[in-house]
Amino acid sequence: MIDLATASAQWRVATVMAIRNETATVKTISFDVPGWPGHLGGQHVDLRLTAEDGYVAQRSYSIASGARSGPLVELTVDAVPDGEVSGFLHADLRIGDQIEIRGPIGGYFAWSAAHDYGLLLIAGGSGIVPLMSMLRSRAAGGATQPARLLYSSRGIDQIIYRAELDRLAAQGAGAHFTLTHTLTRNAPSGWTGERGRIDRMMLTRRQFTPAGNPDVYVCGPTAFVETIAEHLVAMGHKAGNVRTERFGPTGAIRA
Ligand SMILES: Cc1cc2nc3c(=O)[nH]c(=O)nc-3n(C[C@H](O)[C@H](O)[C@H](O)COP(=O)(O)OP(=O)(O)OC[C@H]3O[C@@H](n4cnc5c(N)ncnc54)[C@H](O)[C@@H]3O)c2cc1C
Repeated sequence: MIDLATASAQWRVATVMAIRNETATVKTISFDVPGWPGHLGGQHVDLRLTAEDGYVAQRSYSIASGARSGPLVELTVDAVPDGEVSGFLHADLRIGDQIEIRGPIGGYFAWSAAHDYGLLLIAGGSGIVPLMSMLRSRAAGGATQPARLLYSSRGIDQIIYRAELDRLAAQGAGAHFTLTHTLTRNAPSGWTGERGRIDRMMLTRRQFTPAGNPDVYVCGPTAFVETIAEHLVAMGHKAGNVRTERFGPTGAIRA
């Protein structure tokens, strides 16, 4: 039997199999990770880069691929201005390159079909990544409970996974999935989604209410996550049902 704790703590050599552009500043990188023990939607990995002189940079990245993706693990990385690791992954990483990955990490911000009670997902920017993994896991597993996603982006061109989200939402009742976008800066003419930042009124309007005790997952920049978690609890969600993941800087750098 595999000891999952030991398997997750082990650094594995991951080979880049594919790189695709999601938006002008976001790429998805597919890695082949031999011996990958499997993961749940919402978990993350630590990624470690080691330079020839021994300098090491390590960051956390959520897993984008669904729970059933086998040895292929996908990460979706936003290029942070002047970002050391995200900058390297965007500018220098090539197919066939190898880096080190450790995981999966995190049991708290994770979803499995075993507790499919209905799901409310709220994302800001690249905070969509672990929520997409949950949605992909759910879609592959034929979930029967409703899920809603409220996804905040600056503009339409910054929406990550837009086509795939639209496809999931278009499956309608069969997928039990309702998608709402909000654009905080520029909305094109004819835009039928929400505009502006997520507030309590938008959450209520889009039925992110506590009725039925749904599990709520919120992910994005630290300030975004904290504001929304406060709104949700004020609306009557049990604090224990509101799970949060903050994409703040993780800069653990060692020489
Ligand atoms: C659990 C977890 C999961 C994460 N998953 C993802 C993911 O799926 N995709 C993804 O793109 N990122 C994710 N992140 C963020 C990621 O770990 C890095 O922080 C990010 O890629 C920046 O690293 P860097 O080395 O490029 O920037 P650094 O060189 O560390 O920082 C450069 C500058 O950018 C600022 N900065 C650093 N990180 C951020 C940030 N996240 N947002 C805004 N400004 C920042 C710094 O304060 C600094 O001014 C996750 C973070 C956590 C904690």
